[in-house]
Amino acid sequence: MDYSPLFSIQAKTATRSVIREILKLTQKPEIISFAGGLPAPDTFPVDILTDIVAKVLKDQGPSALQYGLTEGDPRLREEIQKWIAADGVDTSIEEIVITNGSQQGLDLTCRVLLNPGDTVIVELPSYLGGLQTFRASQANIEGVLQDEGGLRMDLLEEKLEDLASRGIRPKFIYVVPDFQNPSGVTMDNERRVRLLELAAKFDTLILEDTPYRQLRFSGQSQTPIYSLDKDGRVITLNTFSKLFCPGFRLAWLLAPPALAEKIIIAKQSTDLCTPPFNQAVMAQYMAEGRLGPQVESIKKEYKEKGELMLNLLDEHMPEGIQWTRPEGGLFLWVMLKQGMDSLEMLEKYAIPRNVAYVIGSAFYCDGGGAN
Ligand code: PMP
Repeated sequence: MDYSPLFSIQAKTATRSVIREILKLTQKPEIISFAGGLPAPDTFPVDILTDIVAKVLKDQGPSALQYGLTEGDPRLREEIQKWIAADGVDTSIEEIVITNGSQQGLDLTCRVLLNPGDTVIVELPSYLGGLQTFRASQANIEGVLQDEGGLRMDLLEEKLEDLASRGIRPKFIYVVPDFQNPSGVTMDNERRVRLLELAAKFDTLILEDTPYRQLRFSGQSQTPIYSLDKDGRVITLNTFSKLFCPGFRLAWLLAPPALAEKIIIAKQSTDLCTPPFNQAVMAQYMAEGRLGPQVESIKKEYKEKGELMLNLLDEHMPEGIQWTRPEGGLFLWVMLKQGMDSLEMLEKYAIPRNVAYVIGSAFYCDGGGAN
């Protein structure tokens, strides 16, 4: 049967993500993979979870296995409220929505805000999964370059002015401000404040996606954009994937109540609710005070791995190659010389030597980034 006339425009235009294809490669045991943000599996708290799962089943029985509220388990939302308060984010429970990974947060935000042809602004480079979601929403994606201090505010202002002169109001500016995937770069406080000023001047929203924020292993913490915001312009995505384990598919988003309400309605038709059992286990895990020590041990491991990587790059990389020096998170971005092509390098040299990485152009919405 020919299915093509039946496909929606979205299905017709959607392509497989480069990262999924590269991740397939990394399944081969002989490959050393620097592709894909897979958390270190030895950090997953298997033993503690075995006990907590048994405890939740014993104490809560069938109620932990029933359908739950679309916005999430109130106990988990309260634990999250306390957890982020320690990071300087003061929220009401109404602002917290539990999601199936922050990837779902991205999707729901797009469902609520985007019509086909609407404009969003992203960083160059930007998170692949974000780009994929914006493409699925048939958005017009405009990129703005980053440097070592994050998104360049001078270029952002130019972009916003140019769009305004053509009567275009972007729906939101998408940023990964802490240890960005893929560059590892963090946006400094001055730019965070400026970003909010520009969002206000051009009357748009900010989508702050920050899965790595709590994995800082050196340097000074920067303020969450959500807590700098005074007029309800920010939606923030957060996740347990990198603080706990991604297989639980548990995350949360923060949004001003009027936006949260729309997001909850969109979520209802998507999945009714995030698995209540996972939420009950996570709430118990947090109530026992286990998340803090878990995050500390993850940071220690990533600090060692990060330092090893940076030392080896210093030792082995040839002249003229540059790279970022992340202060946290999972990602590091290597810039080859102009004219060099990371795809060609991958195919010709890296894969035959059983090494995988993600090519630069995959992260550029404008076709750049080959080196
Ligand atoms: N946003 C960013 C920037 C990410 O790096 C990731 C994970 N790679 C996600 C969202 C999705 O994370 P999850 O769905 O596991 O919470």
